[in-house]
Amino acid sequence: MKKTASIAKVKSFVSSSWACTPTLAWVLTGFVFIILVSIALVSGIGNWGEGVAKLGWSLLCGGMTFGMLCSGKFYNYRFLLFFLLAVGALIAFHLTPLSQIVEWSDKTGPDLDSQIAFCHISIVSILGNTLENLFSSLVHGPWSHWGVYYLPGLLYLLFTLLLGTAWCSWACFYGAWDESAARLAGKKPWWRLSKSPGKWRHIGLGVLLAVIVLAFISREAFFCRWICPFKLTTQFWDATGIYRWLQILVMLLAGIGFVFVLSWLTGKRMFCSYLCPFGAWQSIVGRISPISVKCRHTLCNRCGQCQTACPMHAISVSQTEAVKISEYCNRCGRCLEICPQQAMQLVWKHQETEVSPNTAWTSIVFVLCAVIVHGMLGIAIWGSIGKQLIASVLNG
Ligand code: SF4
Ligand code: SF4
Repeated sequence: MKKTASIAKVKSFVSSSWACTPTLAWVLTGFVFIILVSIALVSGIGNWGEGVAKLGWSLLCGGMTFGMLCSGKFYNYRFLLFFLLAVGALIAFHLTPLSQIVEWSDKTGPDLDSQIAFCHISIVSILGNTLENLFSSLVHGPWSHWGVYYLPGLLYLLFTLLLGTAWCSWACFYGAWDESAARLAGKKPWWRLSKSPGKWRHIGLGVLLAVIVLAFISREAFFCRWICPFKLTTQFWDATGIYRWLQILVMLLAGIGFVFVLSWLTGKRMFCSYLCPFGAWQSIVGRISPISVKCRHTLCNRCGQCQTACPMHAISVSQTEAVKISEYCNRCGRCLEICPQQAMQLVWKHQETEVSPNTAWTSIVFVLCAVIVHGMLGIAIWGSIGKQLIASVLNG
């Protein structure tokens, strides 16, 4: 009797949503908060501005975690954190002298000295140069080109595999800009894209290959020099003459055209969906990531609402076939919330899509991992802002 009651309890918990009981939500939120505060302490607190910023960010991530766990939803909570991370990155890049931003890149070898910031897109875009440096450090030394660069490199790889393409909707400090523009389109975008992007979907892979090859041939961080929007906030390569006009052209097309205008017109994240080399990279390595979005086909009625709402243009719905979700899905949570049938869910890759207690726990584990990775980046970014603001106030 007791056993039947517990099974019924689990079933109702799972089938309604993955929302936790308040007690479980408090416990898990406390767990996230303690992890983030520990990371903040271990990473160092230079002045009280940095300490307050790191503690404040950890508290905010904890609060958002509580909201997600209690409501069993994460799309809007995630977006708020994602947006604040992007705003923080913009301020941090603006406040930090280029010489400090490129501090990490001094360890990547002589070819790329003083050219790049240590960010996720730059790591991927100079892959060819990095492999060459690693090979030459193995053969000729110095070893520092291997070890120092690859400690953060390995950490990044670990989180990449854990989150997969979810990095692009939780941890990327560029992505919130085109997601914001896409959200402005509302439910009825001006330009409705076709149901399936077909082979256009893979343009990003071509961009990825091109920036890797061009960086290797030119021995320059090609993406950072030409496409990175954050170079607008630093002293990056202020060219003259024809190069200046080419820079302006690239910024207009990629930065303003894809990130803002096209995303606003279509309601899709156009830069992330079609141009970003990092998104293309994640769509390849992210296949190893253990959690993905699947459709429970027995519940789906092919209404197509998820396809219209998906900001990554990653869902295809037809009346004749099962709903398809592409490898470019970045686990933003939109389709999980909009589906009237509650057919969309986060599952372990090997898992069947029918309801089971694991389904709820998959979402909970995913949210906790994603918030911790996101929180770590925010601690670094907002900590640096707090530190610099206090230093500038004290120095007059
Ligand atoms: S919104 Fe839900 S029911 Fe409608 S097509 Fe998508 S998965 Fe199926
Ligand atoms: S398939 Fe769903 S979770 Fe994935 S990007 Fe589209 S809306 Fe977001």
